[in-house]
Parts: sequence; C-alpha cells; structure tokens
Amino acid sequence: MARWIYHEDMYRFDQPERSYWEATAGTEAPQATPLGSNEQCDVAVIGGGYTGLSAAYHLCRDSNLDVRVLEAGHIGWGASGRNGGFCSVGGTAVGDEQMIKRYGLEETRAYYRGQVEAIELVRDLIVGEKIDTHRQGDSEVAIACSERGFEDLKEHAKFQFRVFGLDTKIVTREEFRQQYFDSPVQHGAVILKPTFGIHPLRFVQGLARAAQEKGARLHAQSEVIDWSKDGERHLLTTKGGTIRAKQVVLATNGFTPEHLHRRLKGRSMPVISSIVVTRPMTGDEIARHRWQTDAPSITAVKLLNYYRLLPDGRFMFGGRGSANGSERNAAANYTSLIARLHELFPGWRDIDIDYRWHGLVCMTRRMTPAIGRLDDDPSVFFAFGYHGNGVNTATWSGKQVAKWLASSGSKEQKAPEWLPRMMLGMPGRFPLSPLRLAYLQAAIGVLRLRQRFLQAKKRGHL
Ligand SMILES: Cc1cc2nc3c(=O)[nH]c(=O)nc-3n(C[C@H](O)[C@H](O)[C@H](O)COP(=O)(O)OP(=O)(O)OC[C@H]3O[C@@H](n4cnc5c(N)ncnc54)[C@H](O)[C@@H]3O)c2cc1C
Repeated sequence: MARWIYHEDMYRFDQPERSYWEATAGTEAPQATPLGSNEQCDVAVIGGGYTGLSAAYHLCRDSNLDVRVLEAGHIGWGASGRNGGFCSVGGTAVGDEQMIKRYGLEETRAYYRGQVEAIELVRDLIVGEKIDTHRQGDSEVAIACSERGFEDLKEHAKFQFRVFGLDTKIVTREEFRQQYFDSPVQHGAVILKPTFGIHPLRFVQGLARAAQEKGARLHAQSEVIDWSKDGERHLLTTKGGTIRAKQVVLATNGFTPEHLHRRLKGRSMPVISSIVVTRPMTGDEIARHRWQTDAPSITAVKLLNYYRLLPDGRFMFGGRGSANGSERNAAANYTSLIARLHELFPGWRDIDIDYRWHGLVCMTRRMTPAIGRLDDDPSVFFAFGYHGNGVNTATWSGKQVAKWLASSGSKEQKAPEWLPRMMLGMPGRFPLSPLRLAYLQAAIGVLRLRQRFLQAKKRGHL
C-alpha cells in the first residue's frame, strides 16, 4: 500500500518548510528530543500540531495523566506551522442550508456556537499562556468578486445573522473602497466577527511550551512507523524507540499516513493549499490599493483566495495548491497563484515575492470535521478534517478529545452530549479511495473552468 497519497516531496519530515513563519518563528521553539528508548505512558498523542498539542495541554492541565506527543517532524512541522493564520469561523464544506437539512437547525446552531467558542479558546490560550503571536485584526473580510456574487453574499450574511446570530455587516463596493482596500475584483463585502490573524507557528510553539509546562513530554523527529497492540497496550514504534500506551490520540489530519491504522484507510482527503509572501512594502506601495485594514480577507468564491497585510508590511496571499505535491508541480502552481495575486492587486505587480510554500488541509467524505473514538477499540481517539479551518477548529477539537478521554478512560461509553452531532464519529470511506486524488483534480478542474467562464463573461469576451 502506498504510504501517502501525494508525492514524497510533501513528506520531508526532516526539513522545515521554507516559509515566512519559519523565518520569523522567534524563540518559543520548545525542546523536544526524539524518542530514544522504550518507554510507557498513559496517553500517546500522534501528531504535534494544534490538535495533538491542545489535546496534550488539556489532558495534562485537567487530569493527572502521563502524556507523550510523538511528532514526525519538528513541533508544528505540519499545517499548524505553515497556515494563513486566520482564526475564523468555518471548518466544514457544507452550505448552511444543506447543513440544516442534514442535521437540523439546533445542531447547526450548536456547530456555529462551537466555532465562535473555538475562536475564543484560541484567544484565551494566547492571552493566558502569554504566547507572542502577533495577533492582528478583529474581523474577517469576505469580498464579492462580481455583482451577482455580492447579491449572494448579502443574502448569506443576512441568513447567518438571522438564523445563527453571527455578527455580520454588509459593506457596499464604494464603502469598502473608502474603508478597507480596493481591487478591480471587488464588488462589495461582508465583515464577519470574531476573527483575527496570528503567526501560526508561534502559536503552535507556544501551545507546545504550555503543554510541556503542564507536564506533557514531547518528542520531535519521532515518526510512528508501526502501530500494533501488545495485550491491552498500544505499541508505537519509532526509529529511536517505542512507546507502550494505554490510550492513543490520533492527531495527524492531512498528513495521516494511509498505512498507520487499518481504520484510517481512505477516510480523509488531503488537499494542498499554497501561500506566497511579498517583500515588505513601503507606505506608498501599500496605498496603491488604499489598504487600510489588518483584517484577514478572502474572496467569496468556491476556489477562494485568502490574504492579509502582515505587521511588517508584507502581503500574504494564499490559494489552491499544486496537483500532486512534487517540487516541479508546486513551482508551476506558485506561478499561477502569483498571477492571481496580480489580477486582484495589479498595483503590486512589481513587488518581489520573498517566500512560497504549501501544506495539506484535510477534508472528509461527509464534509464536516471528525471527532471520535474507534468503535472496535475505545482506547483510540481521533480528531481531523477541518476543511482548511483548523486554527480554531483543531485547537478546540483537541480540547474536546481530551475532555472525552479524561471523563471516560478506556471504557466504552456513549459519545458526550456536548459535541455537535455533525462532527461525531469516523466519516465514511471515500469510494474508490486509491483514486481520490484523480477525482479531486477533476472536481477542481471543473470549478476552475466555471470560474474562468464567469470571468470571461464579465469582461464581455463571451
Ligand atoms: C497553506 C495552508 C493554509 C491554511 N490556512 C489556514 C488558516 O488561515 N486558518 C485556519 O484556521 N486553518 C488554515 N489551514 C488549516 C490548518 O492549518 C489545519 O487545519 C490545522 O493546522 C490542523 O492541525 P492538526 O494539528 O490537526 O494537523 P497538522 O498541523 O497538520 O499536524 C499533523 C502532524 O502529524 C504529524 N504526523 C503525521 N504522521 C505522523 C506519524 N506517523 N508519526 C508522528 N507524527 C506524524 C505531521 O508531521 C504533522 O506535523 C491552512 C492549512 C494550510 C496547509
């Protein structure tokens, strides 16, 4: 069986991603020596990102368990150390009406309440644990890319306000130009609170430091290469040693190896997302687009772009990633990402790009996140599938897993009432799972064609 679904270039655990975040990580990097002997613990967490570290932090803070975290790369090597840093509402790829149809109104409301609570959890951790994350902004800007798009966006914002009580504000094209920024692809916007931007790697490193202070032991460069059972205990094997654990928390999200556990095979769809960052711009350069906001922003279309002006005047711009994750493929993808940046912000065509990198987000077949424990082994918990919105959702999910595990131990018990049902349990296997990548690419191809068609129509070429 193939270990990974993308090219091996995506899984170089010994190399940090060449990102702006790595270059500006500060001094919070925790000491996390590789596992070097055969040891035991109560709970072994596989994956040292937001999910795993939040689970470890909350387990150690709220219960008296001996917790180890095993991370294949360095702490925060995965998506948690390389994302856009938007701490915002999201986490699913299901539309609101569909969500209500599937799960009911109350469940959907509970989901959104959880999302807002998750943002507050990140804020509380940053403040309470004194993590220096360069926090910016207090809202998310969603810009409409066409007049028709603005009509849809307005309806959506009114719906979210009326039905879920979300704090949304509609801003017309002219108001937006005056108060936020300008772009030829700007037809009005919706402002959603609460949202803020952070330095994602500093957050994950701060979370790791806080988990260590609460008693968790962290092992970097400790990829779990084999997972078996030895009686009641799990035996996790790394190159340098083994851990025998009573319970396991699986927190590997988009980097989940297909071979790690038979129950994981085909349950997630990793998707590549890419980011570029410019050199620092001068005040005059920033003013070319009348930029006046530190709010994280997105384009309100299916294949969206996400961007923000960073505290040092650099512009961060993200979007869809390459098809297979090889370095060659990624290089071509950065070129089209930069072309899209220039389409949205033509005044910055001459600004050099200093950084480009990518990573994996994770989708599930039911298109909602997954928190649960294995039906046939209640000593294994998992949380994954945040649909590109893990800063808050992964941190919150790690906390929920910790709470669940601490309250029930290895005993099989009903799932806790406090978890939104739509996030609960192992999602279905993708049909023809070895072909996942091919049909993902086909779906993206169709969306891109549709987007190009609409753009050409708008320009009067059709
Ligand atoms: C480019 C990009 C931009 C994004 N932008 C945003 C954003 O702006 N806002 C937002 O909310 N979300 C964003 N996301 C998504 C967000 O980063 C993720 O949802 C979140 O980080 C998931 O956290 P995690 O801890 O579950 O997984 P990860 O941080 O990916 O951690 C999983 C870890 O598991 C480790 N691992 C895998 N296999 C093994 C093994 N066998 N043994 C040991 N360790 C293993 C990996 O090395 C990895 O570090 C973005 C993601 C990407 C890639």
